[in-house]
Amino acid sequence: MTHKIEHIGIAVNNLEESGSLFSKLLGVLPYKQEAVAGERVNTLFFMVGETKIELLEATSPDSVIAKFIEKKGEGIHHLAFEVTDIHAEMKRMEAEGFRLLNTTPKNGADNKLVCFLHPKDTNGVLVELCMEKPSDM
Ligand code: ZN
Repeated sequence: MTHKIEHIGIAVNNLEESGSLFSKLLGVLPYKQEAVAGERVNTLFFMVGETKIELLEATSPDSVIAKFIEKKGEGIHHLAFEVTDIHAEMKRMEAEGFRLLNTTPKNGADNKLVCFLHPKDTNGVLVELCMEKPSDM
């Protein structure tokens, strides 16, 4: 079961510029900056109530974020739903006919295991399932 929007991912050209823009907008400073080497992105996180805003900047032209911006420009990139058991939820989604973009959960930013669904199956919205990484991993 998905139980809340954990974060909203926003693709940006320049993490520093957008970081200060979102600081002004939200009235808070980011609480974390983190590179996700596997995805070739730098991320910057803000807390808004119970939901996070994740700014994503490409670190390489072949990053999915670079390709997204090239096609659509900067903007909302994905919605991330928090799930209690990502393996069970991935099975459930598959059984419901959604295509998963990764068949095993992968490491995301902010100590998460993540899985993305094919946006063609979700009205063009890239959906991320995420779960706090168990402490024994
Ligand atoms: Zn995300």
